[in-house]
Amino acid sequence: MTPKSEAVLSYLKKRFPNAKCTLDYASPFSLLVAISLSAQSNDLSVNKATPNIFKRYPDPESLAEADIKDVEELIKSLGLYHNKAKNIILLSKALVEKYHGEVPNDFALLTELPGVGHKTAGVYLLEIMNKPAIPVDTHVHRISDRLGYSKEKDSPDLTERKLEKSFDKEDWGFLHHSLIAFGREVCHAKNPECERCELQTHCLYFKRNSSIKGK
Ligand code: SF4
Repeated sequence: MTPKSEAVLSYLKKRFPNAKCTLDYASPFSLLVAISLSAQSNDLSVNKATPNIFKRYPDPESLAEADIKDVEELIKSLGLYHNKAKNIILLSKALVEKYHGEVPNDFALLTELPGVGHKTAGVYLLEIMNKPAIPVDTHVHRISDRLGYSKEKDSPDLTERKLEKSFDKEDWGFLHHSLIAFGREVCHAKNPECERCELQTHCLYFKRNSSIKGK
């Protein structure tokens, strides 16, 4: 690891020592559904919606048979709820038809499921199996660009590959969780709190903005 990556990791470990998944779940199925619902929604909103879903549809078998309008009603507080309702029903049907209602612990098989992309599969396997990965959400993508590990135009997959090259495998999972916590609490999309961030000397965004202000 470069001195810069060591400094970034050391700061994140000091600032967010207990960073972890903030989605509530009681089973592999409920975790996979919760991650699917979290696209463009914050985990708090998802955690408020999921108890209602699982009270009525506790397993893939029941959710596979659900009326889409009913599911939409249960998750309408979340963005993209029409698509999400359709996807979690299709996902449940696929789990019942192909895997007897179990969630496969395999990246390629997961990404064949309706509504399950690379990020969802990566987050799921990291949480359930502690499989090393740095799934890239909006926070990870933004901070990786600001710190100069990747570029804004990079796809999430490319950003993940670039981050993987810059950090040791054993730290990938922690990095995923801690960058999300950092993005929520300090390095916001708008008005990041740079004055209380110890990564200023490593941050391209900070250097760019400081030189603009200094002109
Ligand atoms: S200096 Fe500002 S933009 Fe850079 S990582 Fe810290 S909070 Fe984010």
